[in-house]
Amino acid sequence: MLYLNLLTWFKRGMVMNVNKNYENISDSYLFSTIAKKVNEYSHANPDKQIIKLGIGDVTLPLCGVVVEALKSASDQMGVKETFRGYGPEQGYDFLRQEVQKYYKTHDVALDSDEIFISDGAKSDLGNILDLFSQDNTVLVPDPVYPVYVDTNTMAGRKIIYADANEANDFLPLPDESIKADIIYMCSPNNPTGAVYNKEQLKKWVDYANKNHAVILFDSAYECFITDASLPRSIYEVEGAKTCAIEFCSLSKMAGFTGTRCGWTVVPKNLENGLLNKMWLRRQTTKFNGVSYIVQKGAQAVFSAEGQKEIQQNLNYYKENAKLISDCLTKHNIWHIGGKHSPYIWLKCPNNMTSWEFFDYLLENVQIVGTPGSGFGKNGEGFFRLTSFGSRENTQKAVDRLENFLE
Ligand SMILES: *Cc1c(COP(=O)(O)O)cnc(C)c1O
Repeated sequence: MLYLNLLTWFKRGMVMNVNKNYENISDSYLFSTIAKKVNEYSHANPDKQIIKLGIGDVTLPLCGVVVEALKSASDQMGVKETFRGYGPEQGYDFLRQEVQKYYKTHDVALDSDEIFISDGAKSDLGNILDLFSQDNTVLVPDPVYPVYVDTNTMAGRKIIYADANEANDFLPLPDESIKADIIYMCSPNNPTGAVYNKEQLKKWVDYANKNHAVILFDSAYECFITDASLPRSIYEVEGAKTCAIEFCSLSKMAGFTGTRCGWTVVPKNLENGLLNKMWLRRQTTKFNGVSYIVQKGAQAVFSAEGQKEIQQNLNYYKENAKLISDCLTKHNIWHIGGKHSPYIWLKCPNNMTSWEFFDYLLENVQIVGTPGSGFGKNGEGFFRLTSFGSRENTQKAVDRLENFLE
């Protein structure tokens, strides 16, 4: 609404010289349209129970050791001797060292000053753009998490797309004839759940090093990878430290979507240390760090007990994914994801469009998912289901599908 008003005002010349690039952001009607359709349906069919398998947010609570750590850190803040004011902008050493150790478990050696604690991946995926000039060309996969496109549109950068489709298993590879300076990648992917293997990632790393491009690697779902041969970090690929910045988060790993904590890795080998220095300068100027309390909670995620507890939660989501995936397989519905990701990406049966299939599921089995077309043009004809629901609801949804598809 505000956005629409702004546009009218632009046209009347009634606002100051604001960032006109905002005119180019396409309004995302995806989730508001879903909500509207669901509301209308439940209004007309008050007796029907709707199951939401469209959510991109976790539902299991924080694990016990994390809650204990948050409480005890809060107590410390109330005592003069242990009270903390401003912390280091790049995060407390105790947490950066945990992240460093975490990377070592998958054979990635990082210096702790290459790790910057953040309030989540989304902010830094946009903030990092402060380091790059506006005339860079940005390459983003299609379909994709909308943040990459919108942040660059706001900054007025030229965006080109790498087609992800059925033919390439939704894992596009670099095209030597295309020149890109900034490349966004997300593996395991949201929305498709597709995961790059090391050989495929190596192609991107080689392309970036050769073309002097930087890869912005979103590893928010790395914790869902169970196959040890699949890379959980781009730095598992040789040559990545001279071309890649990695963003990760405790949001999906440990249920921190509302608690807010993540990290960004800027290797010192990137541009001979220039980008690491620039990022530190940027953060010390515009960011005052994540709260001590939250960082203590985050530290507990990496304790032995924390790791055990979050693994139980991740397994719960994965078992949900398996229930959905097995049902689709049984009924010959093409799909990927679910195995190393909370997302299942399916091809709408009978050549239905994404929105036709949305209506079809809502009307016949009262299941709500996310139309693939909302993530980019290549998402048309596809549909995303998530495993973040409760077991009970997931099982109920699967039972309804089984009965309906039989
Ligand atoms: C959920 C998600 C994130 C995590 O964002 P936070 O800001 O850390 O909560 C990052 N990237 C993708 C693609 C996501 O889906």
